[in-house]
Amino acid sequence: KEFALISLKDIDDVAKSSFPLCMRHLFEKLREDHHLKHGGRMQLGLFLKGVGLKLDDALAFWKAEFSRKVGAERFDKEYSYGIRHNYGREGKRTDYTPYSCQKIISSTPGVGDHHGCPYRNFNEENLRAALNKMGVTGRAVGDVMDKVRNRHYQLACTLTFEAVHGSSCDAGINHPNQYFSDSQKIMQS
Ligand code: SF4
Repeated sequence: KEFALISLKDIDDVAKSSFPLCMRHLFEKLREDHHLKHGGRMQLGLFLKGVGLKLDDALAFWKAEFSRKVGAERFDKEYSYGIRHNYGREGKRTDYTPYSCQKIISSTPGVGDHHGCPYRNFNEENLRAALNKMGVTGRAVGDVMDKVRNRHYQLACTLTFEAVHGSSCDAGINHPNQYFSDSQKIMQS
């Protein structure tokens, strides 16, 4: 069965139901600040491409936010190139692939950056709050925090997936786009 490509009109709902925490965080920050630094634009942009957001929709999506911060003209001049580049329409025309968990976990976000893996980068208080917001409560939170303390970030993400969906994820999470497609399979079944 083919799963529906993501469209702009339901992107907020889909983000809430099926994005892993790393992408939810970037998505929310973009909606809040109308801006993301380069690392965040890459991590979220390639993920969205991976879930099937078409180039025209991606440009509209980023432009709607960035225009509120830097203006439409500056977006067209400075930022639209990077998005077309991610889709292989500029430069070397490489069709860039979305980042794996391993790559995201090993990135080193600086001040003002929102990319990276929240299980690794958030402090305990912020992580607990983020988990609650995803609907993870009670014992499940403690189980996730145990994995985080032992630096098993992907296992922490897998437990989150299981708590959110009430369904097991035997293969474990190793890619944000896998989290998304496994989630969509459950939602649509
Ligand atoms: Fe994202 Fe992977 Fe971290 Fe989960 S484990 S939040 S999918 S980077």
